[in-house]
Formats: sequence, structure tokens, C-alpha cells
Amino acid sequence: MTVAIDEIKSLLLYYQALGFERLPITIAVRDKVRARSNTHRSERGSSFPEVCSFSDNGAALDALRELIGDCQRCKLAKHRTNIVFGTGNPDARLMFIGEAPGREEDHQGLPFVGDAGMLLTRLISKMGMKREDVYIANIIKCRPPMNRDPEEDEVASCRGFLERQIEIIRPQVIMTLGRIAVQVLMNSPKLKITSARGHFLNLNGIPVMPTFHPAYLLRNPKDKVLTWSDAQKVLARLGLSPA
Ligand code: URA
Repeated sequence: MTVAIDEIKSLLLYYQALGFERLPITIAVRDKVRARSNTHRSERGSSFPEVCSFSDNGAALDALRELIGDCQRCKLAKHRTNIVFGTGNPDARLMFIGEAPGREEDHQGLPFVGDAGMLLTRLISKMGMKREDVYIANIIKCRPPMNRDPEEDEVASCRGFLERQIEIIRPQVIMTLGRIAVQVLMNSPKLKITSARGHFLNLNGIPVMPTFHPAYLLRNPKDKVLTWSDAQKVLARLGLSPA
């Protein structure tokens, strides 16, 4: 019985992570379940289905991480060492979204901890914040072999989890890092990073500022000034000033 309940809970969490607010079952089945559960209704008179709610964002993120488990949903599972879920403040006002973990991230299970990560950390501190103040995640949570671009099926298996992270944290601003992050997040495969960067986009009411990927900036340091100008627009939107 306990196993069955755990399985149902895990399934509900999976649907919730993918953004479902209702169970994808037919009315006939739903009505049968409702009739059976009428005897167990809470005093609040909860309506079906009552998908788990959480005391705080941290707990919701923990539950999401638990749901991902030892993920085998796509072929990247074979190659990874660690799932890189995301890190930072569950109530962050600012969220950074990169592309995919690299070698160091795969090794440590944390996003942006290699050379590109050091540059991102410098940007965050120049913005007057610490890594612990913001939230950092990636489009996909496992390292693609040889750091190749994520493939469509890999993005499709993983994006629901990032969407759920965004929904839980509900940051006031998102900064995407690099072409792939903005293309996937905005569902706009034709977006060019050179023209998109520096202008706010809108993701369900959340302003999204695309900027260059720190790995690109390591190769093209002259463009750091452009990312700094993007970051200043983000700070202005948050009502903050640089360090
Ligand atoms: N590049 C990314 O896009 N994400 C990381 O976490 C590290 C490098």
C-alpha cells in the first residue's frame, strides 16, 4: 500500500513538474474517483485533484529534485556523473539560465563552477550580489558528451523541470546565458543572440534578458562590456545598483 501511494505521489509530482494543473484522465474516471473520495474530503472541501502543495519554495524545489531522482528519461543519463539540478536562493529575485552542465559541473553536480562559472560569479558580484542571492540553473540537467549542443529529445525530456523551477521561484527577472538558453526558453529557435541580447523578452510576465554565454566571453573578452550593459538593465529593472 505504501509503495502504491509513493508511486501515485511520484506520478502526480511528475505531472505537476510538467505543468499540468489537472490530471489527464477522462471525466468518467475522474467522477468515479471523486465519488469514492467524497467520504474523505477535508473540512476545506478541497476540489479534485489536490496536487501536493509545499510550505515554501525550498521545499517545493526539494520535492522536484526528488521527483527527478536518478533520471533515466533521456540518453544523457548514460554519460553523466551527476545531475546538475540548480543552486541558489529559492526566493531569488534574479535567475540565471545557462545551456547545459560542462565537465566540471558534471563532476561537482553544481551549475557554472568551471572557468565560465568563475566569470559568471564575477558578473554576479559586480552586480552587487552573491551566488547565494540568485538562482542558477540550466536548460538541461545532464552534461552532453563532449559538450555538444543539447538535442531536441533531451530538451523535451528536461524542459518541464526547468519550467517548474521557474514557476516555483517566480523570479522578477531572468538572465539567459547564450543562444541556446534563450532559444529554448522562449521557444524561438530562430532568435539570434547578437540581436536578441540587450532587449527584454517576456516569459509569462517575467522579463527575460538574453546575454552572451560566459564561455563565449572568455573567448571574446571585448564583448564583456555588452554583457555588463545587459546586466545594468537587469539591475535597473530590479531597482538595484551595481556594487
Ligand atoms: N555552461 C553552461 O551553460 N552551464 C553550466 O552550468 C556550465 C557551463
